[in-house]
Amino acid sequence: MSESTAELQSLLKRAEALYHDMHFGAVRAWKDAEPGRRAVGILPVWFPRELIHAAGMLPVSVMGGGDDVEIIKGDAYFQSYICHLPRSTMEMSLNGGLDMLDAMIFPSICDVIRNLSGMWQLLFPDRPAWYFDMPQSSDAIGRRFCGRELAELRDALGALAGSSIEDDVLRESVRLYNENRRLVEALYETRRERPWLCPTSELYVVLRAGNVLPVEEHNAMLRSYAELAGGAERHAIDNARVVVVGSFCEQPPLNLIRTIERAGCYIVDDDLLLGNRLVRGDVPDSDDPLDTIVGTFIDHAREASFLYRPADKGAELVQGLEACRAEGVLFCAPSFCDPALLDQPMLVEAVEEAGIPHTSFKYAENTGQFQVIREQAGTFADSIKLWGAA
Ligand code: SF4
Repeated sequence: MSESTAELQSLLKRAEALYHDMHFGAVRAWKDAEPGRRAVGILPVWFPRELIHAAGMLPVSVMGGGDDVEIIKGDAYFQSYICHLPRSTMEMSLNGGLDMLDAMIFPSICDVIRNLSGMWQLLFPDRPAWYFDMPQSSDAIGRRFCGRELAELRDALGALAGSSIEDDVLRESVRLYNENRRLVEALYETRRERPWLCPTSELYVVLRAGNVLPVEEHNAMLRSYAELAGGAERHAIDNARVVVVGSFCEQPPLNLIRTIERAGCYIVDDDLLLGNRLVRGDVPDSDDPLDTIVGTFIDHAREASFLYRPADKGAELVQGLEACRAEGVLFCAPSFCDPALLDQPMLVEAVEEAGIPHTSFKYAENTGQFQVIREQAGTFADSIKLWGAA
């Protein structure tokens, strides 16, 4: 084995270990390294992590327990007909798995997260928890509303950290997260052009590492992965180019992503871990970095089911499919996910109008049986390759 192959394998092994570590050892180690360090949890999908970083704290994205957490108590808090993420989040909270988080932020993406935030506040009254009400309009009122929400959170985070968040420090944090977004985009570009070099099952765990690592360390990991994967001796095979849509919040288990790939698909775009890429491009440098963060979110957020946009639902999806030369769409959403599943008929209509084949299935983060999905994705890929349409 060459030195670079061994390096790539070691990087992926570390990223996958972080993915499976539901005790958040990396976060605990970061906190233990210096007395007084604090970490702040963020539920999906998006919050400007720059604000937490600028307060000297570690932003930690909490995305449920995947298939690594057995649900015993968590089910008691929720009715049966909602998604799985809040159950595993509750399970981890009740078992002390999230006790290293000094505060929690719940962005307003759906009623489930809203209810989860209420339960958290009742169960852990001594730990700050904030509900981040994301604006649902992209006009001047939405912008002002978002500015006020984030200004309040900036003050609250500063109070937790023990000192206010200064603009010049926030600008430096924005610079680091801009770099992170650029590195992620570059990997998406590599995967779009040469998906055999950058399989989604690898890219995914490398991106997931950013949930728990400081951004400086994650940037270094992304750079190393880009170099090692870009230089790897891997050859293209005749897979179908597909895009995964609907997986922006509760995440599918890693083995589901592997199953799709093994069924003969190259995933050339997706909305997994969307928080990393919700805002397109850089947040520009400015004298008022908070206002610029707000403006970039209002003007440049991607189309997403949890953001109300009155017109052209699906137009951006179709543009994206054309840009990545997708041959098919896998609508792959968590069971009972209202935002994803209520949007799906409109997205299907747009995709059908564009003449792009599609298929759909649902998952839970702890789905353990993949044979049916393998057969469905495999048949879909075969039909694309054999007849050009499913
Ligand atoms: S998976 Fe869907 S329904 Fe569940 S918390 Fe996320 S957005 Fe809400």
